[in-house]
Amino acid sequence: MEEAEAIRLNDLEGLDQEECARRMNVSRSTFSRILDSARRKIADALLNGKGIRIEGGNYEMAARRFRCVSGHEWEVPFERLIVGPPEACPTCDTPSVMPLFPPGMGRRWQHRRGLYR
Ligand SMILES: [Zn+2]
Repeated sequence: MEEAEAIRLNDLEGLDQEECARRMNVSRSTFSRILDSARRKIADALLNGKGIRIEGGNYEMAARRFRCVSGHEWEVPFERLIVGPPEACPTCDTPSVMPLFPPGMGRRWQHRRGLYR
């Protein structure tokens, strides 16, 4: 799980390792080690036709809660979030959904995804 998050922050979001380490609450050298390990597994999977299973690791990252404008809340598994945020509420189908991030993370998401209405 940490490795998937490391890849997401560094390679998908394009943050530098300093920032990634800060987001994940680990030291820069620990982050670098997590990232190396993740990339080795991805390379192995790509070149040797293996699958990748994302599990374990930091439980806090296992799911994130989302809320729609009507107030429905639900959890999205972390491995689903790698594909992208949910596009609609599973209960009422409104596309106006927002992630319930820890304080400080919502604004960035808002600007990038435009999910707040
Ligand atoms: Zn809803």
